[in-house]
Amino acid sequence: MTTTNGLDAEAYDRVRSFAWCSWHKGFTDTARLVSITEQGSARAGGQFACAPCRAKYNLVPVADQPL
Ligand SMILES: [Zn+2]
Repeated sequence: MTTTNGLDAEAYDRVRSFAWCSWHKGFTDTARLVSITEQGSARAGGQFACAPCRAKYNLVPVADQPL
């Protein structure tokens, strides 16, 4: 009640990485955008994956991939 500003800043920071994880089919606050390069797939672009799913499926966030 007396820390409205602090909570707002923290909430805003969490929202920025809060997204739907396409791997475990649920919302996560550790989402990162990963590119989809499945062989034979016509889909382009990327999907969000949470930290546990990135580790489990060996996914590399777009921002961490070499150009
Ligand atoms: Zn996940």
